[in-house]
Amino acid sequence: MFIDAHVHLDKYGDLLDEALRQIETERIFTVATAMDVPSYLELQTIGARSELVLPTFGIHPRRAAEYADRLPEISRYVEMSPAIGEIGLDFHWVKDASTYPAQRKVLEFFIAAAAEQNKFVNLHTKAGEKEILDLLEKYDVRRAIIHWYSGPLDILHAMIDFGCYFTIGVEVHYSDHIRAITKLIPDHLLLTETDNPGALKWLRKNDEVGMPAAIKNVVQSVAELRQSTPEKIDALVQANFARLIAEDPKLLSFSNTLAHESGRGQG
Ligand SMILES: [Zn+2]
Repeated sequence: MFIDAHVHLDKYGDLLDEALRQIETERIFTVATAMDVPSYLELQTIGARSELVLPTFGIHPRRAAEYADRLPEISRYVEMSPAIGEIGLDFHWVKDASTYPAQRKVLEFFIAAAAEQNKFVNLHTKAGEKEILDLLEKYDVRRAIIHWYSGPLDILHAMIDFGCYFTIGVEVHYSDHIRAITKLIPDHLLLTETDNPGALKWLRKNDEVGMPAAIKNVVQSVAELRQSTPEKIDALVQANFARLIAEDPKLLSFSNTLAHESGRGQG
C-alpha cells in the first residue's frame, strides 16, 4: 500500500468522491491535515468515509494570525485529534512579517500540546527550519514528520540526527534540490506525500488538480533516485509509517489497518 503522509483532502470539492475512490482502489493510507478549525471539522466527516483516512488538526502558519488569541478555544480540537498538523512556520511565502510572532506563538502552543499528549506532528518548515528543530528539541517531540523539506542541508542533517521523518512529494519531478534531499534521507526516516490537491497546480502554475494516485509517480521517482524499486520503496515507507504510529493507543485502528495491508501485500 502507499503512504500519503500529507494531503488536504477537504480541498477537493466536487472531486472528493473521485479522490476517495482512488484512495480505496489504489490503497493509499492518507494523513489528512487540517489548515484551521472549519477544515478539521470537514475532514472528520470525510475521515468517517474511509478507514484509510486519518484526519489531524492543526493551524497552518498562513492562518496563525487569526487564531493566536483564540488558543483556549481550540484546545478541545487538539485533544480530540489523534495527531497534530498541519502546523509550522512560513517566513518565505508569507511576506507579512507582522504575522510572524503569531506564527511562533501558535506553533509553540501545538508543539507543547503534542509533547504533553504524546502525538506525532506534521510540520511545514519554510524558512523556519532551525527554529522548528529548536522547538522539537526543547519539548523533546521525537515523532515529527517534516513535510516537503526544501531548506538548507546542514539543518536537514541535524533533523535527521534528531530522528525526524521526511516526506518526499511531487516536487521530486521538478527540482534538483529536492532530488538531492531524496538521496540524503536515511532509509528508516523516508516517507512520501502528495500535498494535493494543490501541489501540482502550484508547481506547474496551471489548473491541474492533483489527485491521490499521483503518489505512484512520486514513489517511482524516489525509487529511481535511490536506485531501488517502487515495490521496495513502498514497503520501506509503509514500515516507517507503521513504526511512527506503533504503540500509539490513539492510532491503534490505523496500526491494525496497516498491518492487515502488509499481510495482504505479502499474501
Ligand atoms: Zn500542506
